[in-house]
Formats: sequence, C-alpha cells, structure tokens
Amino acid sequence: MIIGGDWKDSSNGAVSSILDPSNNEVVAEVPRATKQDAKAAVESARTALESVGWVDIDPSKRGRLLTKLTGLVRENSDQLARLETLSEGKTLRESKGDVAWAARAFEYWAGLADKVEGETIPVPPKRLNYTLREPLGVTLHIVPWNYPIALAARSLAPAIAAGNTVVMKPSEITPLTAIMLGDLALKAGIPKGVVNIVTGSGAEVGSALVSDPQVDGIVFTGSAETGKQVMESAAKNVTRVLLELGGKNPHIVFPDADLAKAAKSVKEGIFTNAGQMCWAGSRAFIHENVYDSFVKDLVAKTRAIKVGPGTDETSEMGPLASKSRQDAVLGFVKDGLEEGASLLCGGKRPTDPRYLKVAHELAARLQVGGLAVNEYLVTFPQTPFGGYKDSGIGHENGIRSLEFYTRTKNVSINLS
Ligand code: NAD
Repeated sequence: MIIGGDWKDSSNGAVSSILDPSNNEVVAEVPRATKQDAKAAVESARTALESVGWVDIDPSKRGRLLTKLTGLVRENSDQLARLETLSEGKTLRESKGDVAWAARAFEYWAGLADKVEGETIPVPPKRLNYTLREPLGVTLHIVPWNYPIALAARSLAPAIAAGNTVVMKPSEITPLTAIMLGDLALKAGIPKGVVNIVTGSGAEVGSALVSDPQVDGIVFTGSAETGKQVMESAAKNVTRVLLELGGKNPHIVFPDADLAKAAKSVKEGIFTNAGQMCWAGSRAFIHENVYDSFVKDLVAKTRAIKVGPGTDETSEMGPLASKSRQDAVLGFVKDGLEEGASLLCGGKRPTDPRYLKVAHELAARLQVGGLAVNEYLVTFPQTPFGGYKDSGIGHENGIRSLEFYTRTKNVSINLS
C-alpha cells in the first residue's frame, strides 16, 4: 500500500492473498492494513492538504498532473487490464474497456481543474460579495470489487482536480489496480501524500476510516447495507457523504421495438461483467404480445455466450469475482426456483415518433436515477450517474459532481 508517497507494509506485518477467481490460485499478496495504518493514511492526507506544494498549487498545474496521469494510465493499459482480470475475473476485453474509461475520467477532470469557479453576487451598493469554491479537504474513497479501476478513477479524478487529498481503500478482493494507480500518480508528479492507498478489510480498516473525524468527505461505492453503516458513522462527525449503492434495474420492451436489438441489449444489460454491476438490468418487463418469441431469442443468445477464464481472449464472460459471489448467485437461483420461477438456462434507431413520445413520457415518470432508450445504460465521465431511493445519495461524473468535492465560502466586503 502507499502512505505518504512511500510503499508500506501493514504495521503488524499481516498480508492478504489475492486470488484469481478462474482457478483460485494466489496471484499476489498485499498488506492487510490495521486501524493504526488507517489513521496514518488520513494524517498523511491531512499533512499534504496543508503543505505548500499542494495548498498553493496553480490549479492549471493540477490539471497538467492529471493529464500526465491520463497518459501513464494509457501507456500502462495492458498491465492494468491484466491485473484487473487476474483479480476480478472479467475478460481482458472488459478490463481494457474499464482502463480506457478510467483514462477518460482523468482526462475529463484534467480539463476542469482550472475551471472551479466562484461567483460574484449582486448586493446593496458599496459592498463586494463573492463566493470561493474551495477544496472539501481530505476525501475518503471506498471502492467495491466489480469495477475496481473505473470506480477508483471516477472519484479520484474530481477529488484531485478540485484540490483535495485522498485516502482510497479498494476492495480486499481486487486492490491491485488501485495500488498501481497510486504508484502512477506519484510517477505523474502528484505530490507525496496527496494520494494514499490503504489495502485491508472493510470491517477493520474501512470502518476505522469512515469514523475518522479528520476525514472531510466520504465517497462510498458498494452495497446498500454497508452504505447505511457508513452514513451512520459519518453522521457522528457530520461528514459529507456521496453514496453510490446497489440497484435492481428493469428493462422495458415495447412490442414495436426492434426485438432482435432489444434482446441483445437485455442480454448485455444483465450479462456484462458476469452480471456484477450496480446498474445491471436484472429485471425485464416484456410486452405480452411479444413475450414468448422474445424470451426464446434471449435464451438462445444467452446459451451462445462463451464462458471461460478472463485471460483467455476467446472468453465472452469470465468467472464471478469470488467464491462468496458464486455462492450468493447460486443462492439467488435456488430462491427463485423455490418461489416458482422457471429456469431457462444458465436496430435500428427509433424512427417512429410515437415510439419516442412513449420514451420521453416514461423518462419523466420513472423513479430512477438514469435510463437509456434503445440500448443498455452507457456511462461517460461527463454525464451524471447516481441512484434514487436506496441506490444512493448524490451523483458521480459530470461537472455538477464538483459540488461534492468543493465547499462554498461567501465573502462579503464592505467597501465604504
Ligand atoms: P460492500 O458494501 O461489501 O463493500 C464495498 C466496499 O466497502 C469494500 O471496499 C469493503 O471493504 C468496504 N466495506 C465493507 N464494510 C465496511 C464498513 N463497515 N465500513 C467501511 N467500509 C466497508 O460491497 P461489494 O460487495 O464490495 O460491492 C458490490 C456492491 O456495490 C453491489 O451492491 C453493487 O450494486 C454496488 N455498486 C454500486 C455502484 C454505483 O455506482 N452505484 C457501482 C458498483 C457497485
């Protein structure tokens, strides 16, 4: 792990084995951080936040550092993708896509670093009133195992662009690409202590980090259950939280859709990354007039997916990320069968204006944080991403997510 710009072992020497889920072989050993290491990481981020090299940095230079990091991520994309596949299991093609997404996030936020602007506010005469958009402070980033590098980059990039310092705790199952990102951040010239990567369990090190009063903001991506615990701990210190939690997202297929294209979207929506996505399309509402033929096509397309190790270039779907995920998914199948479900197997752009009208009407009425028409949801660093209801609080991605990473100070000057 990386604390204060230095490679560190755990303070008690403990390590965790990282397993390749396709064969359960050990691919790496990483330090299993203690509460003491968690505290040291937050202290290091706090020191860096107030250090001359960071507090006074020209915002354009922060942007250039992120541009350099973008380049390094692209130069090292093969290695990053391999590390991702070895620990998460997803196919190399999927890992390469995630690394490319991470590079785009750094690139997007690099361009925004010198555009974090305050405002002047019209007030009665002989006064000057304005706001400053300041860095929030030390931000803590807790990342899950399903999109390790993309989700690490998604919050690391705006945090750095806005001038914060970071402590990141990747999932204990998939910490390898986050560690490498921390190393690349140093190589890009980001000052020591600005990016700290702490590896360890959620129960021990994650909970210590979220309850540390020296943390100013917590970006948590993970399950709704853990998110609620994180929010409870944060409340004790009145720490700001951004929660990106789970989802149970439906497809809706209308009878006048391009049904072959819709079946492909439904297949990709649920089986990309072996179904391990918060935005997986895990439900489908199919119009009764096309239900039977649609299901038949979907089952045929599903049967044709080639499952194999992520490192095998011919695999279309890798293994689930860990034995505990496999057990959980088998449990879902069992529950479904017990509840009476049937087990069937392990276009054109809309030109019809009536069709688009339905889509627009539904978009306004559905209680969801995001939806996609004619494809499954695609995310970009510049478009907001966040859920309604139990799926979270706040948004990642997009210029408005800067609200989270900055705080606003009002300055009122009486000029008379
Ligand atoms: P999880 O909640 O078990 O763990 C997420 C992270 O939290 C891990 O790093 C873990 O170590 C840490 N953690 C666990 N207990 C903690 C505690 N008490 N205090 C602090 N940190 C703790 O989730 P997971 O199983 O790793 O991830 C899968 C979940 O993430 C799914 O529910 C998925 O839907 C969700 N997810 C959401 C998004 C999104 O953008 N909304 C994206 C990807 C995944």
